[in-house]
Amino acid sequence: MKLDITKGIQRNGIEMPFELSESFPEDSWNGDTIRFAEPVTFSGTYMISEETVVIRGIAETVIEGPCARCLETARMPVKAELSEAYVRDKGEEIIPLDEEQYRYQGHILDLYEAVRTALLLELPTRFLCKEDCKGLCPVCGTNLNRNTCSCQKDVPRRNPFSALAAMLNEDEEV
Ligand SMILES: [Zn+2]
Ligand SMILES: [Zn+2]
Repeated sequence: MKLDITKGIQRNGIEMPFELSESFPEDSWNGDTIRFAEPVTFSGTYMISEETVVIRGIAETVIEGPCARCLETARMPVKAELSEAYVRDKGEEIIPLDEEQYRYQGHILDLYEAVRTALLLELPTRFLCKEDCKGLCPVCGTNLNRNTCSCQKDVPRRNPFSALAAMLNEDEEV
């Protein structure tokens, strides 16, 4: 996600509007693979002040990931507000910078990392397909949002591995 600041270079100190839209690649979040289901839009203003470019704007997209309870795809609209400073990288001296600051060269800023980070920070720690997702039956794996099963009441506290363990034991005995 590249921002061309050529126009703003002649207008130091003036807020310049921008609007970007781009598809982001697959990513990972808390060990899950997530997908940007819609192009990421990022609009706002940039302002150049000497060697620093301050970017302010709102990024939006829809992210898909597996539901923590039933593993079906969960869709989540995400919106993040950004305010970032990009400092010109002159390649001469190494200036210590805040870790939060980004660098740029020439007149093109790469906003991908900043926008990606801001969007992922808005995600909840767990994806849920819906608030009251009933999840999978721990015994037979039935998706309890769609079907019911009889084992749930009979065996209330078996863990997900007990069914597998039982199957493995049967195999050994054969
Ligand atoms: Zn679910
Ligand atoms: Zn079941």
